[in-house]
Amino acid sequence: MEHKYDLVVIGGGPVGLFAAYFAGMRSADVAVVESLPQLGGQVSALFPEKNIYDVGGIPGIKAKDLVKNQLTQLEAFQPEVFLETSVQSIEENGDGDYSLITNQGVILARSIIIAIGNGAFAPRKLAFDYDPELEHNGMVDYFISDLDTCRGQKIAIAGGGDSAVDCALALEPIADQVTIIHRRDQFRGLESSVTKMENSRVQIKTPFLLNQLHEQDHQLAVTLKRVKSDELQTILVDKLIVNYGFTADSRILRQWGLELKGVKVKVNTKMETNRPKIYAIGDAVDYEGKLDLIATGYGEAPIAVTTALQTIYPNKIQPVHSTSLFN
Ligand SMILES: Cc1cc2nc3c(=O)[nH]c(=O)nc-3n(C[C@H](O)[C@H](O)[C@H](O)COP(=O)(O)OP(=O)(O)OC[C@H]3O[C@@H](n4cnc5c(N)ncnc54)[C@H](O)[C@@H]3O)c2cc1C
Repeated sequence: MEHKYDLVVIGGGPVGLFAAYFAGMRSADVAVVESLPQLGGQVSALFPEKNIYDVGGIPGIKAKDLVKNQLTQLEAFQPEVFLETSVQSIEENGDGDYSLITNQGVILARSIIIAIGNGAFAPRKLAFDYDPELEHNGMVDYFISDLDTCRGQKIAIAGGGDSAVDCALALEPIADQVTIIHRRDQFRGLESSVTKMENSRVQIKTPFLLNQLHEQDHQLAVTLKRVKSDELQTILVDKLIVNYGFTADSRILRQWGLELKGVKVKVNTKMETNRPKIYAIGDAVDYEGKLDLIATGYGEAPIAVTTALQTIYPNKIQPVHSTSLFN
């Protein structure tokens, strides 16, 4: 018989991860399903190098370190983690439990917590065609989860926003050479970061558009076209990191039979949706006074987990405080 989890958390952002941890701490058999190849949601994908100052008890932490700490917490309970797995639909089975239909197969769940934030992320791609092999061999990347893979390399970064500038600054001390390419003369990053970048070793190519990519002598030849001019330049690098941001699409929620408030899931104070044993938390939900903050989602996660476990195991009374669980 196929394995059925007590609780499946859809979305491996900070809020989903905390829900999985909290459920693991209460001995639930839990799984996390994440559509990206990495965990951490917006925090990992959109601002890994920024500092977060509004999580209680933490004076300030680099976003990627917050996720790292959450993964360390999770390790204690070893929940099943399905990466690159997108939930497409949620079907009720005859026994009142659920089948999650994903691009990788079916996952069975007694209860579900939806923590999909603003929806599944997809990186904004380059506007022209190039050999897909360049992505497979790592010469073109839309995610850099480990900066160390760029150590000693020649890196080009395409983009002009916060995360492109942060990426250039983070790579500058470890890469052999960093070139940032942007179609405008002005960067949209934080002023202090842009100034720091301008005063660093980072080579700035503006206003240039990427025009063509091809492999040449085990390197990537990046052809650039100066905006409003016919001037072409080609630079040779080991890797191009495309940092045009991400698009998020939450339209899938409409297919999950959920009552919505605008584009978000409507929940009550127990984080219950209109479907039995399906809860929603984090940026995916809306209610009066809702704030899209990590701290808010961290508060919603224990409520949803506790409601879910009380519903599927009504006779199992669990202590509220972790101090009573382990001390
Ligand atoms: C630039 C920026 C700065 C920010 N700064 C702060 C800050 O300083 N402090 C703060 O508290 N908050 C900040 N936020 C907001 C914070 O990032 C969000 O509130 C938080 O990430 C919400 O977490 P979440 O887990 O609900 O959703 P998300 O982080 O959005 O994670 C949702 C996850 O679900 C996955 N997913 C979506 N659909 C599916 C599907 N169908 N199947 C499987 N997986 C799916 C997504 O890929 C994603 O990984 C900031 C946000 C941005 C963009």
